[in-house]
Amino acid sequence: MDLIFHNGRIVTMDEEQEAAQAVAIKNDKITSIGSNEQILALKEAGSEIIDLKGRALLPGFNDSHMHLMEYAQNRTKVDLRHCKSVEEIIETTRNFINKRNINKGEWVYGWGWDHGLFQEKRMPNRQDLDRASSDHRIAITRTCCHIMAVNTLTLQKIGIEQKPAAVEGGNVDTDEQGTPTGILEEKAMKLVNDLKPPLDEEALKDLIKQAAGDFLSAGLTSVQTDDLAFLGSDLMPVLTGAYQELESAGGLNLRVNLQCLLPSVEELQAALDRGYRTGQGGPYFKIGPLKLLTDGSLGGRTALLSEPYDDSSPYQGVEVLSVKTLEALVNLASERKMQVATHAIGDLAVERVLNAYEKAARRYPQADPRYRIIHASMATNELLERFKKLDIIADIQPPFIPSDYIIVDWHLDEKRASWTYRWKDFVKQGIKLSGGSDCPVDDYPPLEGVHAAVTRQDKKGNPPGGWHPDQCLSLKEALYIYTMGSAYSSFEENVKGSITAGKFADLVVLSDDITSLEPDEIKNLQVDLTVVGGKIFYSR
Ligand SMILES: [Zn+2]
Repeated sequence: MDLIFHNGRIVTMDEEQEAAQAVAIKNDKITSIGSNEQILALKEAGSEIIDLKGRALLPGFNDSHMHLMEYAQNRTKVDLRHCKSVEEIIETTRNFINKRNINKGEWVYGWGWDHGLFQEKRMPNRQDLDRASSDHRIAITRTCCHIMAVNTLTLQKIGIEQKPAAVEGGNVDTDEQGTPTGILEEKAMKLVNDLKPPLDEEALKDLIKQAAGDFLSAGLTSVQTDDLAFLGSDLMPVLTGAYQELESAGGLNLRVNLQCLLPSVEELQAALDRGYRTGQGGPYFKIGPLKLLTDGSLGGRTALLSEPYDDSSPYQGVEVLSVKTLEALVNLASERKMQVATHAIGDLAVERVLNAYEKAARRYPQADPRYRIIHASMATNELLERFKKLDIIADIQPPFIPSDYIIVDWHLDEKRASWTYRWKDFVKQGIKLSGGSDCPVDDYPPLEGVHAAVTRQDKKGNPPGGWHPDQCLSLKEALYIYTMGSAYSSFEENVKGSITAGKFADLVVLSDDITSLEPDEIKNLQVDLTVVGGKIFYSR
């Protein structure tokens, strides 16, 4: 044996053998699970023995939907997550520019602001950002990544200072005079993103390694990431090249599954022609599903609803992809046996995606297609039944609950708020779930997600009693979605997701026995050790 863990609370997530005291590892695989006596008897000269002293050992966490590359890039931008007012945005951005001595005329990117938290209860506009600097090109994205605020210089650089042309699948917000306010929604953000210089393979490899280090320290051993949302599909060969090179050089310590955002038939066709298919790759890097986006976010008020947000206007949210294009893409992927995972948040968006999946499944039957809906934030009883009947996976994000509940109650009436984030109803209905963070939309540590799923509260204990507490998951359910649930969603439940002999030795040691804690105490847990393929890549 190479590595033995003993004297622990082994949470296997394997129904055949739910609990154990010790685990043995040889090379990159788990070989045996059992009592201290049984496993310690396997000790050989050179075996590394780790005494867990009663701490929990779990399968490594797997984030079923995030944006690794965007997270890595954000580390180089102004972090606006904690701003409580427009004034604080201005000040934080100004300080960032001064502290880093950024030359006039250069770009200053920021991210993470949430006007739901602001005293002013409004988004920052170009005049606000001009006060941070009128000499730099400022572009700051909202926490949902679906809305961007820019200053006047940026508007000049993208050529939309006055009466901008309509943008398909997006919106340039204007005042009564037709002058842009500085708010760009959905595909209008592309006007800014298109001006960024492209990243080369070396730069990408560097970003991947930095992000992987952070994720490993939080107990993640696998992530499923949509990087093309940030890079654009033209960079797919460069990106996959970067991951593959890292993998073959032994420089990728985190298992990565790429969710491929290819939002037009032409882009999907080009990727298929290049030979990309779901499941291709090695143990550390694999091509995942086709990723699609059908609407925006609840926080940005761009989620597509079946009925208007309120009585004052017919506005129902933003349709990012038309039904026709959505169905054409799902059909083409199904015909060519590419898995599909589609972002849908509003109830109308969810319904449209279910329709598209149902039609494609009839037209191009597959034995095991595993269609997925990422977020699936709003679901009526009828939609829940269709999820079950069509066997659709819901890729959910428990950290959204503490981040979003105030804004959900603000934007939606009581009935529709009760359709939102109803994860226990999904579980009761027998719908397959996988867990993630949508990082950098929310923080990536999976333990924070587990805490949110079981308490439906933020770390300060708000709201008291939890938001819709009837929807709290049990600890076992919450751990399952971040391990086996996520492994199932990427067709990898036979190689990871549980502590089972023969599976990859992807493991995490927590600072305490998670099963003996009160739900509220989960937030105090630390990750002590992260093991991927039998090797320790993080130690606290
Ligand atoms: Zn996302």
